[in-house]
Amino acid sequence: MNTHDLIRKSQEGNQLSRDELVYLLSMPPDAPESYLVMAEANRISKELTGNMAEVHAQLALNLAPCPSNCAFCSFAQKNGIFTGEGRLTMEEAVAYVRQFEKDGANAVFVMTTAQYPFGLFLEMSQEIRKNLHPKTVLIANIGDQSLANARKVKEVGYSGVYHALRLREGSDSGLSPEKRKESIRNFQEAGLGVGTCVEPVGPEHTSEELADMILFTASLNPSYSGAARRIPIPGTEIAKRGSISELRMAQVVAITRLGMPRTVVGNCTHEPCTLGGLAGANLFWAEVGANPRDTEEKTEEGRGETVESCRALFHECGWNCYQGPSRYYNDKL
Ligand code: SF4
Repeated sequence: MNTHDLIRKSQEGNQLSRDELVYLLSMPPDAPESYLVMAEANRISKELTGNMAEVHAQLALNLAPCPSNCAFCSFAQKNGIFTGEGRLTMEEAVAYVRQFEKDGANAVFVMTTAQYPFGLFLEMSQEIRKNLHPKTVLIANIGDQSLANARKVKEVGYSGVYHALRLREGSDSGLSPEKRKESIRNFQEAGLGVGTCVEPVGPEHTSEELADMILFTASLNPSYSGAARRIPIPGTEIAKRGSISELRMAQVVAITRLGMPRTVVGNCTHEPCTLGGLAGANLFWAEVGANPRDTEEKTEEGRGETVESCRALFHECGWNCYQGPSRYYNDKL
């Protein structure tokens, strides 16, 4: 097995096998072969999009200690970062999404913690939808849902969702892997595009675990896949495991691109960075309000990027940015 053969195999339209992905993932991130893989992923992403990257923008409707206790999340009750619940008012939420629209975000994401009342989420969403241009792509980032609820999400005007089976779901997270998968099926059954990701990657994850997750995301034929590293929340138990470098994350983003069928146009990374953009990421996120990777209540005052800063990062690594409603989600509709 060698990297040139695997790149050729991918160029011929064949999906890489688990062993082949493991081979690439086991390479040191700074090996010449890893740079070859990043260059090829970049080439594929640019070919599929006409060199037009996208920036999506997310707001959180609430901030609350969450009993699901995912070890990597700043909302987890056991991490003790946030103690009280805060919810955006309708006016605040509408102001945020209107600003995103004005900034030119290609899609607007509405996030809640898993415990946010579903009825309230629908109510807020209806109002948000009414205040946006009908062509603005609206995406939900919410907890696991039944098929009936997934249909309601679609009815209130969402085009898709972000939903991921996280690495070591069920042991590092307090959620059931089977429920995560079932929700993804429910969203797709309801006609919602599903964007997903290999996340949150830490130094302890083996090449085999990453390969399995890349193949799982590929099996969904998602709106996009990609890779995101874990951001250590200071003082938490999981922070002791450390974090991977941006270069390793870029390598995983690139290998994820090679592991996806060409029907998947989007390839995301988080947090936004030029190494990711160089390695084939064509989707970054801007964020406001609460953020599960931040200890600031308003991530715009902390780790959160803006639409403008995400675009600047893309330009730094040779990308143009697409103007208009997201093609990644629309392609799946
Ligand atoms: S990731 Fe979601 S479900 Fe897990 S603790 Fe954070 S808010 Fe709760």
